Amino acid sequence: MKTHYTIPIFIPESACPFRCTYCNQYNITQKATSPTPDEVVSVIQQYLATIPPNNPDIEIKAAFFGGSFTGLPISEQQRYLEVVSPFIESRQVDSVQLSTRPDYINQEILDLLKLHHVKLIELGAQSLDPQVLQLTRRGHTVEDVEKSSHLILQNGFELGLQMMVGLLGDSKEKSFETAQKIVSLKAHYTRIYPTLVIKDTDLETAYFKGEYTPLTLDQAIDWVAPLFTLFENHQVQILRIGLHPSEGFINRDTLVAGPFHVSFKELVLTEIWKEKLLKLSENNHSDTFIIEVPKSEINYAIGYQSKNRKMLEQRFQKVIFKQLSN
Ligand code: SF4
Repeated sequence: MKTHYTIPIFIPESACPFRCTYCNQYNITQKATSPTPDEVVSVIQQYLATIPPNNPDIEIKAAFFGGSFTGLPISEQQRYLEVVSPFIESRQVDSVQLSTRPDYINQEILDLLKLHHVKLIELGAQSLDPQVLQLTRRGHTVEDVEKSSHLILQNGFELGLQMMVGLLGDSKEKSFETAQKIVSLKAHYTRIYPTLVIKDTDLETAYFKGEYTPLTLDQAIDWVAPLFTLFENHQVQILRIGLHPSEGFINRDTLVAGPFHVSFKELVLTEIWKEKLLKLSENNHSDTFIIEVPKSEINYAIGYQSKNRKMLEQRFQKVIFKQLSN
């Protein structure tokens, strides 16, 4: 199996005329201005210096994150993509991926992206419930997501559909339905972000007026756990759960409220394993509980701060997690 490296290149809000209720790109990326092409080159070079060169078992992607890449003027998109092309031609980087809005995709844009080795296009779908999209003021419809997803796949790209849980008007059922639609749209990848209240956003105003209540951490775990299982069962690869723990979130400078936790993924997987362990142990009436777990899952099975082990130890005198090689 290949090891994947992603070189992140942040293109903040300058390309985006929208103001989704939850978003303040400046606070999320902590960067106000877009990088110049020279800065992009230097970011790529710095990352490449940390990755073993010429290794066929390593796949390296340059990823344009942050704003809506295909909302930039075509000439600017071209300028950025042309900066990456020499790295691809010299085989130092394997492909390009980018994130954008569902309504910023058309055939002309896809033709340009194809020419410049873009492999994966991620769309910020956020929700596939019309009411949630409207309340969030996303400025696009469910149909936009469907149309763009089909066009992306027809043109041979890989498709990523990102979703959020706990937006205004969302519910556990609606978020599950969004995930089901992401599966039926044949996305290869997804990212799941619990909604956070960030400073200087419309959601912050709604929160202080009492018009929006964020999910608690326990609710967010409870909503996300079934999504994780659904995506895994349908081979939709989950690239990320929860926003990257930036300094502003950790020291609460930019975070007002919401279910933020630096180990959010671990908490979700602890919950999934808790359910599995409860089922596996329900008919075990002996003193000892032994479970074999693949190496990659062992920490999640034992649980965040040994939560699952402690739960089992209340019922069994001896609890043994046997680690299997993957
Ligand atoms: S479209 Fe993206 S960048 Fe623009 S406001 Fe919404 S979330 Fe922020």
